[in-house]
Amino acid sequence: MTWDVIVVGVGGMGSAACWQLARRGQRVLGLERFDIPHSMGSSHGVSRIIRLPYYENQAYVPLLHRAYELWHDAERTTGATLLVTTGSVDGGPEDDPLFQGALASARLHGMAHEVLTGTEVNERFPGYRMDPAARFVFQQQGGLVASERAIVAHANAAMAAGATIRARERVLGWEAHPSGEGVTVRTDKDTYHAARLVLTAGPWMADLVPLLRGVAVPERQVLIWTQPRHPALFTPERFPVFNLQAEEGRYYGFPVYEVPGFKFGRYHHRGETMPAEAMRRDVDAEDETLLRDFGHRYFPAGTGDTLALRACMFTNTPDEHFILDNHPQYPQVVLASPCSGHGYKFCSVVGEILADLTTGDGRTRHDIGFLRLDRPGPRAESLIGPLAARQSTL
Ligand SMILES: Cc1cc2nc3c(=O)[nH]c(=O)nc-3n(C[C@H](O)[C@H](O)[C@H](O)COP(=O)(O)OP(=O)(O)OC[C@H]3O[C@@H](n4cnc5c(N)ncnc54)[C@H](O)[C@@H]3O)c2cc1C
Repeated sequence: MTWDVIVVGVGGMGSAACWQLARRGQRVLGLERFDIPHSMGSSHGVSRIIRLPYYENQAYVPLLHRAYELWHDAERTTGATLLVTTGSVDGGPEDDPLFQGALASARLHGMAHEVLTGTEVNERFPGYRMDPAARFVFQQQGGLVASERAIVAHANAAMAAGATIRARERVLGWEAHPSGEGVTVRTDKDTYHAARLVLTAGPWMADLVPLLRGVAVPERQVLIWTQPRHPALFTPERFPVFNLQAEEGRYYGFPVYEVPGFKFGRYHHRGETMPAEAMRRDVDAEDETLLRDFGHRYFPAGTGDTLALRACMFTNTPDEHFILDNHPQYPQVVLASPCSGHGYKFCSVVGEILADLTTGDGRTRHDIGFLRLDRPGPRAESLIGPLAARQSTL
């Protein structure tokens, strides 16, 4: 059998792509090397932040509006609760890009928001203990996405719409026909043929796409859950998700949700980059101390005993923006690496964009120019540099 589209990696992005493709009537095969869901990639740990006043780049905001719509669509389709609204608090020193970027984004896109001092944040949300002089953007639509449940929901919706999903089947390599038509995918169990290929392999992207080596780089992260000393202050009703630029670095956190504990983490935790296959999954005392010291200082009412610690992976690009594009040499192959530590909230809209790029005329109505591979990168000519010197398939 020849498939219309093969999706490699049924994690956050791949499960959404399988659903969006299957509901358009495409014959879809999703291939996943682990279980669905699992705890080996980038999407485990129960929850991910969703927030509108996007400090990373205001061009993400229209995508976010569509992401919200499609998360609600998935909720209606599957009956699962995927979004929990808590409000979001983004800030730190007044002159820091985190606060300034969030404020600029809120103003540019005309979204309802409030600017609060640290003192006002502490009064309104007593689980917080911010520097009184710090500045924050509070935005009421912020919250969390139930990330593992969303993979289950997207996979179930995809299968209900006709997709075939095979787990515990590892893709070993792929070949694209130079004519621009057709692909062959080899796994540890079989060989498949399809008209188009979507690669959503998360931290393993560079293993499957050599031109992304050095461009999509896995990094070890650690999340902690701690017992709140005052649990009533850490519920979704009373504790908004946060992104905080602190002296110690940039941190993020969540109210207690689904599993016990106030959850938080540090962006680029200890700066440990490595191939995904070599990722250290155990957690040590240094990981715990780094996180607990932050918790004690800024959220003392939340930082009681440790309840859980888990390692996970970011996949970082040099400019920390996503990669969403056709393969430069094989237009029938679409690459998606939406991570750099902030991609999950976009899964729903990324699924739609991947379906756009692989069906019809291959165009999308979404403005993703800033996520394409030919955007200016640190090597000036483009994110991926001269292609001629790079091998493009396995
Ligand atoms: C600790 C942490 C906190 C984060 N916090 C946030 C947040 O608050 N908000 C937010 O928006 N984002 C956040 N992110 C980022 C977000 O989680 C990622 O952007 C998102 O999970 C990436 O999804 P993905 O589908 O690319 O990767 P994954 O969900 O890891 O999916 C990739 C899949 O490909 C499979 N695969 C790989 N190779 C093969 C192969 N050869 N054959 C078959 N299958 C294969 C993998 O097994 C995996 O299932 C965070 C990430 C981490 C690690």
